[in-house]
Amino acid sequence: MTATIISGKELAREKREQMKIEVEQLKSQGIVPGLAVILVGEDPASQSYVKSKQKSCYEVGIHSELDEVSVSITEDELLHKIDVLNKADHIHGILVQLPLPSHISEKAVIEAINPSKDVDGFHPINVGRMMTGQEAFLPCTPYGIVEMIKSKGIELEGQQVVVVGRSNIVGKPVGQLLLNENATVTYCHSRTKNMKQITRTADILVVAVGKAHFINKEYIKEGAVVIDVGVNRNEEGKLVGDVVFDEAKEVASYITPVPGGVGPMTITMLLYNTIVSAKRLVSKG
Ligand code: NAP
Repeated sequence: MTATIISGKELAREKREQMKIEVEQLKSQGIVPGLAVILVGEDPASQSYVKSKQKSCYEVGIHSELDEVSVSITEDELLHKIDVLNKADHIHGILVQLPLPSHISEKAVIEAINPSKDVDGFHPINVGRMMTGQEAFLPCTPYGIVEMIKSKGIELEGQQVVVVGRSNIVGKPVGQLLLNENATVTYCHSRTKNMKQITRTADILVVAVGKAHFINKEYIKEGAVVIDVGVNRNEEGKLVGDVVFDEAKEVASYITPVPGGVGPMTITMLLYNTIVSAKRLVSKG
């Protein structure tokens, strides 16, 4: 079997074309969706993510503002900046790029963002709403993964899903979203015993570990759908996933590549959430 590739790059392009039209329509009604990004410090990976988010906003017509602040900013100063953005009518989404320096509490920063502008979907209110199946901003990477699976018409109801990884930003929420779709979800993590036996039961295997080539074909059931969230650099400095792609594609029915898989969908869902937020905040007056 050679797996069908689920291209996040292509799906992202299609979705962004639709968003462009939607933003044009909003603009004709006098509404310009706005995203504010705060970047603390000069971490090159964070700088690159933020740049890419800004470029994507520009492409679909979303107004974006970047506040680059010194690594020495205090927590109180950062919280004040968030407070100003919470009150700004032209800003519909607020994103503080993580990770933050150790003297600033990520929890305090996330909780300071008004949940109605929390387009990253990390605020406990949005997490709780997602868990209870209520309307919420869904976290962008997990949301993108569900969209990718659905884009291929892959059945989720009753399917065995195994998620490897249980972080708050990827593993846990992607399992929750798939549970909300009536899949049967199992999590694996660093303390899991006999992982191979568990992953081999998966109709859909989602891998979010952050270790290059961690999952080879022996972990995959014939015909499984494999979603590789990992972004790692190999010895040659090339981007690789957590899955041994060349092996896995011979066993899987569908597979996401790295790069060009989950990554482009993450930013796309951030744009989507910002547009949804603009519509909601405007309709509330
Ligand atoms: P993380 O917070 O470091 O979490 C990694 C998870 O993997 C943890 O739950 C950990 O288990 C588990 N793990 C580590 N070693 C393991 C092992 N030997 N066996 C089983 N599980 C193991 O990472 P993350 O933020 O979720 O990110 C995961 C990967 O996805 C990274 O490569 C990251 O760069 C990538 N990522 C990509 C996107 C995108 O848009 N494409 C977005 C976010 C993240 P414990 O909980 O037990 O420690």
